[in-house]
Amino acid sequence: MKAAVFTPDGEINLREREKPTPGEGKVRVKVKNCGVCMTDVHITHGEFSVEDPVVLGHEFSGIVDEVGPGVERFNIGDKVAANPIISCGYCSYCKDGRTNFCQNAIILGGAGRNIIDGGFQEFSVVPQRNLEKLEEHVSFRRGAFAEPLACAIRGINRLQINTGDEILLIGAGPMGLLLLQLLQMQGAAKVIVSELIDERRELALELGADYSVSPENQEVPEEVRSLSDNKDGVDVAVEAVGNKTAAQTGIESLRRGGKMLIFGVPPEEAEVPVNIFDTYFDEIDLFGSYALTKQDFFASISLINGEKLELSSLVSHRLNIDDILKAIELTEKGEGLKKQIEF
Ligand SMILES: [Zn+2]
Ligand SMILES: [Zn+2]
Repeated sequence: MKAAVFTPDGEINLREREKPTPGEGKVRVKVKNCGVCMTDVHITHGEFSVEDPVVLGHEFSGIVDEVGPGVERFNIGDKVAANPIISCGYCSYCKDGRTNFCQNAIILGGAGRNIIDGGFQEFSVVPQRNLEKLEEHVSFRRGAFAEPLACAIRGINRLQINTGDEILLIGAGPMGLLLLQLLQMQGAAKVIVSELIDERRELALELGADYSVSPENQEVPEEVRSLSDNKDGVDVAVEAVGNKTAAQTGIESLRRGGKMLIFGVPPEEAEVPVNIFDTYFDEIDLFGSYALTKQDFFASISLINGEKLELSSLVSHRLNIDDILKAIELTEKGEGLKKQIEF
């Protein structure tokens, strides 16, 4: 089988490998679609080191191809999506349900201390407890959104949005557009999207955003205040870009009692000045959202099986595994929206 192997020297090479055999409690998945995300870009830039060659790709769907001993939940032919975080279940974080912080986590093809082979290969072995069934009518393209959608759900659940809130969403890339749809489901009265790229702003409006602004032409906090009901800013700001300027814009666009979510992955050293008097006096809440928990993954599968969200139109490129480097490059350049490797 073909596998895109990431080696300790930071290269990705296509290799011919033996099909893996599923051990006790594990399932072999014939991978159908695997999303490419900024994490793959960061890994290939050496921001996470690996000691042994590993197959990346942590956003995948596929078909059960073989089951190991002791697997009862799945049969050959089942459609599935994988949760890439294999959490231990017994550390203090797992006990609290915060499996995204699991101290003994093993990650399928993603970023972490212990990474094992993920989805940029024809067949991948996954513990049965990290798989959920996709219904027959769900396409593999949609199914491969299980992980990114779960991350978006994590962010939204952190915020505890109130029905009727006015919201600023900064960034309308694939993740921003998932967040946008979830914000609407939460009963947002108004969603203002700030985004540099024209096509992304248009798509955001098509997907139900109420207003779009361009940080290139407009002073965003001022514009947001003028669009808000009380002319004093939004109740919630969501940063889905991963940079300082965007985070600063979010904080400056809040009204008193506002909440700010840092969702995009910022550079490690990124800092923004926070006026602690304003934080005190205006009761500003700052939230972070990292990866996904098991509960978020279950919720994501329910939404995907329920066909509740527009996902297929978020895929701009479907590429062959031979073009893995191109897919990662396109992701880095921010061209189009979601790139998926399709088998
Ligand atoms: Zn991802
Ligand atoms: Zn744990």
